[in-house]
Amino acid sequence: MVGKLRLNLAKFSGKLASQASKVGFGGGKSIPGFVFSKVGTQEAIKDMAHELKYGSIVLTGTNGKTTTTTLLINLMSKDLQIRKSYENNTINSIATALLNQKGDLGIFEYGIRNMEYGIPDTVQRLLDPIGVVYTTISQEHTQVNGIKNPFDSYYEAKILLSKEMERGVIVTNCDDPRTALIGINKQDDVKINYYGIAIDDIKDFDAKAIKCPKCGEILDYSINFLNHRGIYSCKCGFKRPEPNVKLVGAEFNSDKWKLTIEGDLFNYPKSENIQFKFDITVPPFGFHNIYNTLASITAYATFTPKVENIEKNVKDLFNNLDMSFIPPGRFEVVSVGNKFIGLGQGDNGDALKINAMFMKQYIDGEFEFIYTTPDENEEEIFNDHYDVVKGMKPDHVIVVPGRTSISKAEEYYNIIKKDFPDAEFYPLSSEEMGKRIDKLTDLAVNSDYDYVIMTGCGEEQAMWEEIKKNMINR
Ligand SMILES: [Zn+2]
Repeated sequence: MVGKLRLNLAKFSGKLASQASKVGFGGGKSIPGFVFSKVGTQEAIKDMAHELKYGSIVLTGTNGKTTTTTLLINLMSKDLQIRKSYENNTINSIATALLNQKGDLGIFEYGIRNMEYGIPDTVQRLLDPIGVVYTTISQEHTQVNGIKNPFDSYYEAKILLSKEMERGVIVTNCDDPRTALIGINKQDDVKINYYGIAIDDIKDFDAKAIKCPKCGEILDYSINFLNHRGIYSCKCGFKRPEPNVKLVGAEFNSDKWKLTIEGDLFNYPKSENIQFKFDITVPPFGFHNIYNTLASITAYATFTPKVENIEKNVKDLFNNLDMSFIPPGRFEVVSVGNKFIGLGQGDNGDALKINAMFMKQYIDGEFEFIYTTPDENEEEIFNDHYDVVKGMKPDHVIVVPGRTSISKAEEYYNIIKKDFPDAEFYPLSSEEMGKRIDKLTDLAVNSDYDYVIMTGCGEEQAMWEEIKKNMINR
């Protein structure tokens, strides 16, 4: 507990920093929180978090966390005033939101790349959240700031965000064995609400074997929905838990999808189980967004004190959704002339597979894959990526560096050339990003193919968003 005076002083200093950042001192979203914790010590964040009437919900995962957070904020804002932070997902931006906003519930995205550059256990202790929401966990960022980041320690860091929870609910994806095990291991301490898919018309075109997160043996899948997400079991007894909120029906049309969602889950404010079943109609937003939809609805239904509003609020949001809810730089399919071009970020194997599955809905003929490579020390990412590229069976491949190293990109290209002898390589430098962006735009727009998928590594705003803008301007 920080003294009242010091807490007030810290709040005052933080607010002063907010004023300063508004008039151009820079730093914006995280500076006020940074100043606050310098004056009040990090412990002051704890006091501020406890001022929230209902508490905080923290969202994490490899892919889908910004989208899920955005959807949850939208849903919950219909019932309550909330404090929120997303995209800029550090403890300082959470502190800034606590400081500068008003509201009874906090909804915060928190990204964790590894233990050295994240403090998941500290965040858990300071915020003392009533909810931790997991999207999905897969291999990404195999190096952070030049240091190797093995998957085990990355996974461990995600676990730490909820490990010491003694109250509240963990909302987690039961189709993903890694996030499911986090729930199973905490089921004696807190309530667990699982979400997942309960239909068999979503199937991955080329799923790879993965190891049981509990014992290390290869998992046995009866169905793979999307990469490692599916219905699985293991010799050690570990198996997919039953979802509390599930997709029980789907009609996929080219202009809209009708999804039927059924829930029987624990509502935290009422401390009792609630049930619902309804249809929503959404744009054809890709199978991964079904998970983001389920995650946000499950989290919302778990933590809203106004359970009578659930069906109405969910329908209001999703039936009126357009694709603008997708964060900047993310994969989208645009039609340019008579071409369909799918483009956007795919920084890890899972994200690239999601993009590939999304693009496959549009491809109806020969197609080209323009692949932007990872960097030095990211061979694991390349291997995951390349499995997806090969699995898609493109008719032509173009390779472009997605990050800094051109020589490493060429090494990756030489591997690709063995399977795709007519693959082309463009050694475009990251120092001349404008040129790289123009060339990538040009390659896609002037491709010999009617279907082009352009994805891989690349900075969201500075690369993908710029190429999208370029394309719209042509
Ligand atoms: Zn096992």
